[in-house]
Amino acid sequence: MTKNQIAIIGGGPAGLMAAETLSRLGHRIAIYDSMPTVARKFLLAGKSGLNITHSEDYGVFATRFGAASVRLRAALDDFQPDDVRAWAQGLGTETFIGSSGRVFPKVMKASPLLRAWLARLDAADVSIMTRHRWCGFEDGSLVFETPKGRELMRHDVVLLALGGASYARLGSDAAWISWLRDKGIDIATFQPANCGFDVTWSATFSERFAGEPLKAVTATSQAGTFPGEFVISKTGIEGSLVYAHAAALRDRLAKTGEVSLIVDLAPGRNEERLARDLARQDPKASFSNRLRKGASIEGVKAGLLRELADPAVLSHPENLASLIKALPIPLLRPRPIAEAISSAGGIRWDELDERYMLKKLPGMFVAGEMIDWEAPTGGYLLTACFATGHAAAKGMDSWLKAS
Ligand SMILES: Cc1cc2nc3c(=O)[nH]c(=O)nc-3n(C[C@H](O)[C@H](O)[C@H](O)COP(=O)(O)OP(=O)(O)OC[C@H]3O[C@@H](n4cnc5c(N)ncnc54)[C@H](O)[C@@H]3O)c2cc1C
Repeated sequence: MTKNQIAIIGGGPAGLMAAETLSRLGHRIAIYDSMPTVARKFLLAGKSGLNITHSEDYGVFATRFGAASVRLRAALDDFQPDDVRAWAQGLGTETFIGSSGRVFPKVMKASPLLRAWLARLDAADVSIMTRHRWCGFEDGSLVFETPKGRELMRHDVVLLALGGASYARLGSDAAWISWLRDKGIDIATFQPANCGFDVTWSATFSERFAGEPLKAVTATSQAGTFPGEFVISKTGIEGSLVYAHAAALRDRLAKTGEVSLIVDLAPGRNEERLARDLARQDPKASFSNRLRKGASIEGVKAGLLRELADPAVLSHPENLASLIKALPIPLLRPRPIAEAISSAGGIRWDELDERYMLKKLPGMFVAGEMIDWEAPTGGYLLTACFATGHAAAKGMDSWLKAS
C-alpha cells in the first residue's frame, strides 16, 4: 500500500490550480489522472482561442453563475479575473481583451500556457501520475486502476477535481457519481449546458445550409435578448448565441415540453419601416428579390424564413416584417451532453463546507465543474474552475494544520 499525504484526483484546470496553490503553501502533492495526459479539455478549449476569463465589471462577473453565484463568491473574490490574467502572464502568456470583453491569450491557444504550467508544477516537485483511474472506495482506501494493476492508496487529505460530464472522451466521464452517492452525497443530475439544440429541418434546408452562420442577429428567450451569431447544424442550431440561451431553453423545455428561440433577423431595422419597404417591392418579383431589396435579407436568413414560415405569411409585407423581427425557431431537445461545452448539475452545495470539504467525508475536498454550478461561455467556466481549485487548496491546508 502506497502512502501519500495529499492526493489530487483529476488533472484539469481545477486540480492543477489546487496543486499549484498547495505547493506554494509548502505541501508535496501527487496528482492522479485516468488519461495518458492531463488537461485535455483545457487544451481543446484552446482550439477555439481559450477564452480564459472576462473583463466586465467584477460585480457583474460574479453574478454569472446563476443560483450558485452566492456560494462561489468567496472563491471568486480570492481569485478574480485580474488574478487569472496575472497568473497567465506569470507563465509567459500575455492576454488581450476581445471586442466582446472576453479575455484570450494573444497566441489564441492553450498549449504554451499548459506547457509552462506543467513545468512550474514539476519544478515544485508535484508528481503527476497519468493512467491512474480512481474507481471508488474499499476499506477506507481509494482504489485505482493503474498500468501495474489495481492499487489501494490511503491519503490524509484528497481533492477530487474530476470535472463535469460533457466531452467524456476527454476524461471527465462522471463515473464517480455512483461512488459518492453510495456515501450518501447528494448530486444533482448532470445536464448539458452551453449546448446546441435539435430542430426538425427539412432535408433540403439542412443539406443546403448546415454549417452556415447567421451573423448580426439578436435572439430572445426567458434569459433575455442578446445580440450575436449562431450556426445552422445538420440537426438544429448551435454556436455562441444559442449557448447564451441554452440554460433557459433547456429548463423551459424540461418544464413545459416546448420552447422556441425567437430570432430577430434584422436587429437594426424597425418593423414598420421594414413592412413599408417590403410593400414597395414589385409584386411580380421573386420572393428572394423582394426580401433582398426590401429587407437586405438573403442566403441562410432567407432560407430560414422559408423553412419556418407559413407560405401565406411570406406574401404579406406586414406579417413578413413581423416574422423577420421575431422568428420563432421551435426546439426539440438539447444536443447530447457528450457534445456540450459544459454541464449543469453535480455535487450539491449543501454537501460542502466553506472550505470545499465534503461534510460527510472529512478530509475529502472537491473543486471545479463537478460541483453544482453552471455559467455561460465567456471565460466564466475556467475562472470558476481555477478559483474553486485555489479555494479548495487553501481549505485543505487549513484542514491539515488543524488536524
Ligand atoms: C470544446 C470546449 C471548449 C471550451 N472552451 C472554454 C473556454 O474557452 N473558456 C472557458 O472558460 N471554458 C471552456 N470550456 C470549459 C472548460 O474547459 C471546463 O469547464 C474545465 O476544463 C473544467 O475543469 P475541471 O478541472 O473541473 O475538469 P476537467 O477539465 O474535465 O478535468 C477533469 C480531469 O479529471 C480526470 N478524471 C475524471 N475522472 C477520473 C477518475 N475516475 N480518475 C482519475 N482521473 C479522472 C479527467 O481525465 C480530467 O483530466 C470548454 C469546454 C469544451 C468541451
